[in-house]
Amino acid sequence: QKDKATKYVSEVLQTVKERNPHEPEFHQAVKETLHSLIPLLEENPEYINNGILERLVEPERMISFQVPWTDDTGAVRVNRGFRVQFNSAIGPYKGGLRFHPTVNSSIIKFLGFEQIFKNSLTGQPIGGGKGGSDFDPKGKSDREIMRFVQSFMTELSNHIGPDTDVPAGDIGVGPREIGYMFGQYKKMRGAFEAGVLTGKSPQFGGSLVRTEATGYGTVYFVKEMLATRGLSFRGKTVVVSGSGNVSCFAMEKADELGANVVACSDSSGYIYDEDGIDIETVKRLKIDEGERISKYVEEHPQARYFDNCPDIWSVPCDIALPCATQNELNEEAARILVSNGLLAVGEGANMPCDAEAIDLFQENDVLFAPAKAANAGGVAVSSLEMAQNSARLSWSFEEVDEQLKAIMKDIHDRSQEAAEECGKPGDLIAGANIAGFKRVAGAMLMQGI
Ligand code: GLU
Repeated sequence: QKDKATKYVSEVLQTVKERNPHEPEFHQAVKETLHSLIPLLEENPEYINNGILERLVEPERMISFQVPWTDDTGAVRVNRGFRVQFNSAIGPYKGGLRFHPTVNSSIIKFLGFEQIFKNSLTGQPIGGGKGGSDFDPKGKSDREIMRFVQSFMTELSNHIGPDTDVPAGDIGVGPREIGYMFGQYKKMRGAFEAGVLTGKSPQFGGSLVRTEATGYGTVYFVKEMLATRGLSFRGKTVVVSGSGNVSCFAMEKADELGANVVACSDSSGYIYDEDGIDIETVKRLKIDEGERISKYVEEHPQARYFDNCPDIWSVPCDIALPCATQNELNEEAARILVSNGLLAVGEGANMPCDAEAIDLFQENDVLFAPAKAANAGGVAVSSLEMAQNSARLSWSFEEVDEQLKAIMKDIHDRSQEAAEECGKPGDLIAGANIAGFKRVAGAMLMQGI
């Protein structure tokens, strides 16, 4: 059985490579996940006999479309839009939209693939999807953003709906973009279908805690993981990359739990203050005003700014929370972190650590919280938003936050159990992949080929 499972996985990986040439991020995500499923496949030949992996790695549907719009000078611009509807075994497709110049089919497929497992881990009834565009929101006026979003949604509205596919935000897509998208969708449909998008403003059907959910959730997860070794955030030095929603609310929660958050970054550089960063200033500058992080030192001259963002990992810390983007933390960075006495890593972004960095962490017994599990809080609260929309209710901040905490603890415990069951105690990467897979694969078996 052992050889059969290993052979099956390498055949599936080969097909993925042949069928999706020049898509390194997608290959990376699939490889990491499938490898950790081998022990499970050895014991359960029905997954192999029913072609579960072949079906998991091929999106149910991949939509690519033109997005024409006019900029403020009146010039016509064209971007490419995507939506991957990856797997609907356990619920309608669910996942964010990313607007960033690096977006292409490889990025969207890697994110969509990860989303299948992440969504399954939340225990909520949501399938895996993702979308976005290579549109760069940086430097665009508010009206340009609106025109772009309206054009994007004019096409996307043909493919989504509260019971089919429910997008949300991701990098470059926040409450403003979701608002314009909802307005356009409503016009196209002639109906107020609140549950078609999540991450809405609470003034028209959004859930409280959705903005904070990914960052808070990552810290809740890491808290559980630290507790398995009798550790906590109290008194620990924490470095958090990024300075968007995920990063800011991870910093806020870590700070609340008694940690000293000493550094954060944006795409041009990072700030460092050994006495702790003023998180409110970062939130205002980055989220409200859209400024560069370098501006922080003008208001807080005791902090220092360095104009190289990957170097943030040279800052000594006990806990590293990469919350910026994929492959932002490589082997070299991991080596420095480990030599500085790192205890734990929590991935707030999607796939921020590359495979070599992860190997190094594992060899050095660093606690590691993989993205699918650690950043599932965002999509978990999105699912709670869908539930509130269906019920035409809105729950209090405390109520949603309690549910988020419970979900993160449950994801941690189930991942830990699955890791033990497959003979890899403490390996939350294997545990999260297996626990996420089981629910989806089980549903696929029951629904037939
Ligand atoms: N983009 C987020 C993620 O990576 C949230 C998706 C959602 O809320 O649907 O999980």
